Amino acid sequence: MIMKVLLVEDEAGLVLTLTDRLQAEGFEVSSATDGARGFELALSENFDLIILDVMLPKKNGYDICRDLRQKSINTPILMLTAKGETIDKVLGLKLGADDYLTKPFEVIELLARIEALLRRSPVQNQNNSAETFRFGEVAVDFKRAEVVRNNEVVELSAMEFKLLQFLIENRGNVHSRDKLLDEVWGYDAMPSTRTVDVHVAWLRQKLEENPKHPQFIHTVHGFGYKFTV
Ligand code: CA
Repeated sequence: MIMKVLLVEDEAGLVLTLTDRLQAEGFEVSSATDGARGFELALSENFDLIILDVMLPKKNGYDICRDLRQKSINTPILMLTAKGETIDKVLGLKLGADDYLTKPFEVIELLARIEALLRRSPVQNQNNSAETFRFGEVAVDFKRAEVVRNNEVVELSAMEFKLLQFLIENRGNVHSRDKLLDEVWGYDAMPSTRTVDVHVAWLRQKLEENPKHPQFIHTVHGFGYKFTV
């Protein structure tokens, strides 16, 4: 399996050197030379590792790190700090970075850190994939029962969350209203199928960009609902 690395660094020379070396080691490398673009890339693709400089134009490394963790993106982050920024290292780790390296560094040292982080991460990654599900601008953290959209926590009722979780876990399949009532509300509950429609409407309102033309939670006329990405 090819490991994908995102490199966010504004020193062109360093980007070139590191990209060459990482590619030579068999990594697939994407890079960004400003923080805003780096953040965007980190959100749009699944990387195995992010190498993140602290001082960056547009959005600094700390903010990127914090915002990624807030969006439940748990990709290992290796921060690059300038010499003497000891306080910054602590801050970086506090904001969710996994390791840091002080510039200037030997590439061999960087490779050793990367190897250590990737060795640590498979277990984490497995957990993450089971615990967090992303679609569009939304990240669903099943373990914490938390939904984040565009950086903001979305308030869902317990039933809305259960319904969303069921739809996601059984995505691609069409579910009748009765089936959803049984699966989500339980056999003993006596709500009407209208309840399902109302909850679906609320979910769309909270999670879809255009609730009238849902991209994810679809109505299958005459049958029920299905979730697709
Ligand atoms: Ca820099």
